[in-house]
Amino acid sequence: MSKPRAERLAHAKRRLLAEVRVQDQCLIWTGALLRSGYGSLALRLAGEKRESRAHRVAWIVFRGPIPAGMQVLHRCDTPACVNVEHLFLGTQGDNVFDAIEKGRFRPIDTSPEAQRRRRQLGINAQHGGHS
Ligand SMILES: [Zn+2]
Repeated sequence: MSKPRAERLAHAKRRLLAEVRVQDQCLIWTGALLRSGYGSLALRLAGEKRESRAHRVAWIVFRGPIPAGMQVLHRCDTPACVNVEHLFLGTQGDNVFDAIEKGRFRPIDTSPEAQRRRRQLGINAQHGGHS
């Protein structure tokens, strides 16, 4: 029998948060990475071990199910980021459009130049905020 959904979600959340580090406003997945730069997380679901993309797991545990045909995309342009505040739902077409808009069709760029450009675009601009 599979575990109750709430328990599986709690487990996934623990797994996710156990392997992240803070970088700027991002929560960077420090576990396995796919060739594409996305985090990869092996979760046992219904007795089957499955590789899931870490940012999709982040969406599911913090926001809920991902509608069919939708992708979880990054505002911060950092595929390994699992900060749910940086994620949004879109289609594959949105993803490609987003990439073209940002002038990005290459692996994650963490150079100061790229970070400065992201700040110019108003992404991750809220440094020193108090809550
Ligand atoms: Zn991020």
